[in-house]
Amino acid sequence: MKFRKIVNVYEMLEKTPARLEKTDIVANLLKETPEKLVSIVIRLLLGETFPKWMDKKIGIGTQLLIKSISKVTGIKEKEINEWVREEGDVGKAVGRAVRNKKQVSFFAEELSVEEIYDTLNRIVEFEGIRSQEKKLTYLSKLFVSADEKEAIYLSRIILEKMRTGVGEGIIRDAIAKIYSVPSEKIDRAYSLVNDWGAVAKAAKNGTIDSLQIEPFRPIRVMLAQKVRNIEEGFSVVGKPCAMEYKYDGFRMQVHKVGEDVRIFTRRLDNVTEQFPFVRDSVRRNIEGDCIVEGETVGIRGDKYLPFQQISRRIKRKYNIEEMARKIPVILHLFDIVYLNGRSLLDTPFQKRREILERIVKEDEKLVLAKQIVTDSVEEGNIFYKEALNRGNEGIMMKNLNAPYQPGSRVGYMIKLKPILETLDLVIIGAEWGEGRRAHWLATFLLACKDEEGNFVPIGKVGTGITDEMFQELTDLLKDNIIYQKGKEVVLKPELVVEVGYEEIQRSPKYESGFALRFPRVLRIREDRGPDDIDTIDRIYEIYESRG
Ligand code: AMP
Repeated sequence: MKFRKIVNVYEMLEKTPARLEKTDIVANLLKETPEKLVSIVIRLLLGETFPKWMDKKIGIGTQLLIKSISKVTGIKEKEINEWVREEGDVGKAVGRAVRNKKQVSFFAEELSVEEIYDTLNRIVEFEGIRSQEKKLTYLSKLFVSADEKEAIYLSRIILEKMRTGVGEGIIRDAIAKIYSVPSEKIDRAYSLVNDWGAVAKAAKNGTIDSLQIEPFRPIRVMLAQKVRNIEEGFSVVGKPCAMEYKYDGFRMQVHKVGEDVRIFTRRLDNVTEQFPFVRDSVRRNIEGDCIVEGETVGIRGDKYLPFQQISRRIKRKYNIEEMARKIPVILHLFDIVYLNGRSLLDTPFQKRREILERIVKEDEKLVLAKQIVTDSVEEGNIFYKEALNRGNEGIMMKNLNAPYQPGSRVGYMIKLKPILETLDLVIIGAEWGEGRRAHWLATFLLACKDEEGNFVPIGKVGTGITDEMFQELTDLLKDNIIYQKGKEVVLKPELVVEVGYEEIQRSPKYESGFALRFPRVLRIREDRGPDDIDTIDRIYEIYESRG
């Protein structure tokens, strides 16, 4: 399949803001796509190179890309860098370089989707010394065959900075439309397999209902609703219910087949290497092939560590063992969704917990979440207090008879925590600071999610941030810059922060219709992705409940 075809679609998508039209454009393209390429084409539309859980990282930054373009076009790197500044967009600068190329390439064949993917697959394999050089060679081969427009989009794909406005909601609707399958079924299937290609194929063959979970393919986790007190909790999950400590760490989904163990975050990042001791403990102490879930918390002595410290371990690439020794963790298991070839999604929670108790041998790294089963408000309150006294965030209340519903917040489990509600929001823009702060991004535009999954602004934050946090935010956000105009930058919606505030107000100033009074960034949530952020509905609820 010619890459040119996808480029035409990118252009059409960029021209229309209308969601329905975008869905039609995507549906038309997918209809014409050969089955074996569907998965790839969908990823190209979403602007992803590989699903995150595959743990394949392209690892090509702007400078390496520019080096490759310089090699292909004969234009000096310095000049291309100048164009990046002028255009405020790497893609456009690359396009301009290709348009002005000094050397003509003969025998270059038209770029195909297959070739792009083969090349990317090779590029991800290179590691260690001389890997950059090898990447460069392969990259240059691609750009030799690219014309101006293809080069623009190709560089955005490689840098993972595509912005066609196609999100997963549009892909879902397009598949639903082509094969006349209800969107909910597509959602469910995708939550289980996390692979649009597999979902599209199943929709086409009429097997969407029989898609099942498989080890080593992370599922979207079940989410919790919030309540304000035990009574309200009972009214959602029923009586009696299970109550568990709500540990303040990050969620791990652990897959085990024989000796092979893989650990995923709730964003489906593979973090097995970062947690070697957890891996070993699971290997030793859990019987059978399984997918289990739990919350990992850092500890020092007998005290839990603040989440921020452990979050550093999530993305750690070097000195992993040293770090693992310095910041040890405990995994508190609270669910199981698969055992020895069988999905447990439809098994009632109480039974799942029994299975968990049966197959797990606890040790100092691996324990079951502390749990009681009760129908008493009084007992619940005592348990809640005890949880807080022991340094936990609060408690979870769980419906004993409920199945596990991947990817949704259905009210089978709820969370109860005391503090003023904070919001998880994504940073979509920023401004460079002035004076002392000139080398930092200093004001951040925050967004929540609307019903359709679009990111809509809800306010700006620039105060209550420490110097270290400015530095950390700047370091993390620099790679997300899509383009820059004066001091303002537009960012790829990637980085999630937990935000505190005094009040939520109605406001026409931001597209969400709300604004935050005195917002402050409490912490960076590296364990969360843009899909996990708070929705307008949630914000409306808090707004209403505070009267
Ligand atoms: P929140 O992050 O505020 O949406 O609360 C839900 C999160 O609490 C889950 O995604 C887990 O990461 C975490 N959690 C901590 N302890 C438990 C537990 N015992 N059961 C379920 N989730 C838990």
